[in-house]
Amino acid sequence: MSTATPATGSDVLPRNAIFDELGFPTDPDNLYTQTVGQMLNAAEQMDLQHRVKVILAQPKNEVMVHFPVRMDDGHFKLFKGYRIQHNNVLGPYKGGFRYHENVHLDDVKSLALLMTFKCALARIPFGGGKGGVKVNPRSLSEGELQRVTRRYCAAISHMIGPDHDIPAPDVGTNAQIMAWFADTYMLSSEHADNNALRVVTGKPVEFGGSLGREKATGQGVADVLAEMLPGIGIPLQGMTVALLGFGNVNSWAGRILQDMGAKVIAVMDHTGAFRNDNGIDCHALAAYSEENYGIAGYEKQPTATGSGTNAAAGVEVIGEDEFYQTKCDVFIPGALEQMIQPKQANMMDCKVMAEAANAPCTPAGDRVLQDKGVEVIPAILANAGGVTVSYFEWLQNKSCVTWDADQVDRELNRHMVFAARRSMVAREKYGCDLRTAAFAAALEHLGAVYKVRGIFP
Ligand code: NAD
Repeated sequence: MSTATPATGSDVLPRNAIFDELGFPTDPDNLYTQTVGQMLNAAEQMDLQHRVKVILAQPKNEVMVHFPVRMDDGHFKLFKGYRIQHNNVLGPYKGGFRYHENVHLDDVKSLALLMTFKCALARIPFGGGKGGVKVNPRSLSEGELQRVTRRYCAAISHMIGPDHDIPAPDVGTNAQIMAWFADTYMLSSEHADNNALRVVTGKPVEFGGSLGREKATGQGVADVLAEMLPGIGIPLQGMTVALLGFGNVNSWAGRILQDMGAKVIAVMDHTGAFRNDNGIDCHALAAYSEENYGIAGYEKQPTATGSGTNAAAGVEVIGEDEFYQTKCDVFIPGALEQMIQPKQANMMDCKVMAEAANAPCTPAGDRVLQDKGVEVIPAILANAGGVTVSYFEWLQNKSCVTWDADQVDRELNRHMVFAARRSMVAREKYGCDLRTAAFAAALEHLGAVYKVRGIFP
């Protein structure tokens, strides 16, 4: 489907005085300014020291690297990579790295900031970081992908580490890429010990990965919905769901919610969109999508489950507008940033939007949804499951133990439920929307830690 268009000028929140103090750009489309604006909006409701707001409004370190990679045809191509370390007051910087042709510095800064708040909200002893390489991974052969990964790791290896900054998968990266990344880091003489395995999470299970990590973000989305929906008056059994994006996060969210009794009635990814009011089989669609790099063509696969049953029967190809207009209980954006702008928000017909993706909504899109009475479960709450199980992986590596899948699921559920409850308590306390409340609940923790630690010297 079409790529996200830039937000319009009216998408901007009222300009905070801290933007001028720190010399922020005046560009209203800037995602970083918008994300900091949401954080400051929460900070204004609370008794938070000015210095904490200023510190959290900027990342500690912003690194850009350029590295050459030999391509299969023998020529060398120069790639651009980023690693942003937003904040480490709670613990080592933590956050994924993505491979996407549109990766920009300010996007990575925004995602790094969100990681700081996600970890604070889930009370995980990590800070926030994020990285990326400007590349379309599907344009590379497997060998090229491996060489890009190893050179990116080498380019940033001096600034990461198992107790300093711990990357993980994100859009366009996966467990295999984490394995190449860890192997490169561990082979460099300075880091040549098994402790170095903890430098990255989201690894394959046979190489230090945790059971349950691959599905963790989708599982966390489902856990938060199960905790919050009864209070909103939506029963999980039979609730209708639309999924924007069907990659790692949303294909798992779809499969898990379907197994919990929900009905996924519409799905859209970058290749196409479907609808089936009787429910789309997300297990069959996930198997198809993984093999075909997208959902397009699934409707022509009558035996997609391999069981002989016609899993794709009743699936109807729809257009982008029709997808957004699908009436459903829960809409789950799990694709890229800033896709839901006022145009899309106006078309949407849902009771709840759970942000599986980071920053899927512009502030103006968000306001449209609020005016329509849609309950928005913000990304720092809804998608915190990924970093939570990454933390479990890091803990298992550190203590040389292996948790079984039930233990991972149980501990994840505990973290997600408490993060949801903290957000609901903050909503009562500050009388605000859930996004502001989730930021406020995280800021309470960050502010308390800054207060006891003080500022050096
Ligand atoms: P992914 O690369 O596996 O999937 C991305 C999905 O978005 C794909 O289905 C793709 O087709 C779809 N998409 C891309 N452009 C689109 C377009 N123009 N229209 C419709 N669909 C489009 O990525 P992922 O790991 O599932 O991550 C999705 C989101 O979740 C991102 O915002 C990411 O930062 C966030 N997130 C991921 C994790 C994780 O553990 N992977 C954790 C927290 C948050």
